Amino acid sequence: MTKVCSKCKRELTETHFYKCGTKLQNYCKSCYSKYAKNYYSNEDNKIQRRKTIKKYKLLHKNVVEERIKRWRNNNPKRSWIYGTLGGHKKDGHKIMIDIESLYNIILYIENCSICNKTLNWRHKGRGPKPDSPTIDRINNDNEININNIMIICNQCNTTKGSRTFKEFIKYCHYINEKFYIEE
Ligand SMILES: [Zn+2]
Ligand SMILES: [Zn+2]
Repeated sequence: MTKVCSKCKRELTETHFYKCGTKLQNYCKSCYSKYAKNYYSNEDNKIQRRKTIKKYKLLHKNVVEERIKRWRNNNPKRSWIYGTLGGHKKDGHKIMIDIESLYNIILYIENCSICNKTLNWRHKGRGPKPDSPTIDRINNDNEININNIMIICNQCNTTKGSRTFKEFIKYCHYINEKFYIEE
């Protein structure tokens, strides 16, 4: 099945069009993106759109919640990214990494980079658990960027605290010397 974009007049396959309900939009994706970018650069249109979304969410509360729940279930790592970056932003950290880059980093990470325990990307409910994945800022800079992060479990992150990674290793050596256990 193909369709002609009413804007650029190209004949394109269905995947080149966004859906509007069950029907395809009249503009192709790239034409629509250009149109939307232009339209929502206007402050009034932006406010109007926020109002429409808010109204929709109120009217279809259960549907929206169900959809979010399903999405979270199917995308545990992406869902984790939104939660974690949101939390760091709230704590005043500068986020200098985009969602896709972070997603590519964590895509194949299943274990804590320090203690190797299996990470649970799907925790529900309040507060992190010992095996919840966390972003550690290696040099404890305020900034979160691709060169400054390590994915470690919440337990290791709590133990490391505000130390830099170097200070943390020194601390571990200190503990090891002071309380050395003979096996
Ligand atoms: Zn087009
Ligand atoms: Zn760990």
